[in-house]
Amino acid sequence: MVVVRDRAVNGILTKSNLPVADYSVNPYLGCAHNCRYCYASFMKRFSHHAEPWGEFVDVKYWPPISNPARYAGKELFLGSVTDPYQPLEATCGRTRALLEQLQGSGCRISIATKSDLVLRDLELIRSFPQARVAWSINTLDEQFRQDMDNAVSIERRLAAMQAFHEAGVRTTCFISPIFPEITDLAAIIAAAKDYCQLIWLENLNLRGGYKKTILDYIAGRYPQLLPLYREIYCYGDRSYWSDLDQDIGALCRRLGLPYLRNDDSLIRAFDAPPLVVNYFFHEQIVASASRRRRPVR
Ligand code: SF4
Repeated sequence: MVVVRDRAVNGILTKSNLPVADYSVNPYLGCAHNCRYCYASFMKRFSHHAEPWGEFVDVKYWPPISNPARYAGKELFLGSVTDPYQPLEATCGRTRALLEQLQGSGCRISIATKSDLVLRDLELIRSFPQARVAWSINTLDEQFRQDMDNAVSIERRLAAMQAFHEAGVRTTCFISPIFPEITDLAAIIAAAKDYCQLIWLENLNLRGGYKKTILDYIAGRYPQLLPLYREIYCYGDRSYWSDLDQDIGALCRRLGLPYLRNDDSLIRAFDAPPLVVNYFFHEQIVASASRRRRPVR
């Protein structure tokens, strides 16, 4: 059960401290995909909703964007703290309304989603210069996926990625969060590499309220992994990630894929078949950006 409310806001574009965007844009507050590890759940501290994160969505209504051309050449990131193509978008259309307001402005857009509803707007998105769409895929195991989120199946996400790729839109496979010994990186890379320009890797961070949620889940569903998770998340052992980094490097060499570590420099421009970027321990950057991010309008 998701509680839905309309919310009038003064504006919809927020200056961003994220390394890959000039502005962040979130047409909704809250997210019905309700991922158990949701990194955006900190927003509830600012929004003061009574419902738990994942059980409310505010639909934002903003005044017309004045002089959209002033965003020409700027990168707008849709979906830093919500999924702009969560199920409500099918009826409310606020993300589509935003894109229609910005169409022709010359801004660049980057969209992150776990949905294939974005296919509805393929032609509109394609009309933006250097548009990019990213799908979060951290497993090919549909049972684990269902345990973790209320979004569409992995098969549907990959099909949407393929459709955008074949339509000439830049795509990203965002393998995040990587769950130690659960996320099969090699299998996901094999499934996605022909349909994306960028494969972005980010390790699972456990902060705040969802640390206990995830550790309890591991204890119940994958008890054999609990000692490893405790080493990583209770005692701060990073050796698992160092070893995985070496394994990914070797995998990329075998596949002939360029492999970078914590390097933003090429992401905005990269168009060649896929570049793999490792963002392990990127949480320090994200955490500081979150602290600086302005609260909900
Ligand atoms: S799709 Fe993103 S914003 Fe929505 S619940 Fe999942 S992690 Fe959070």
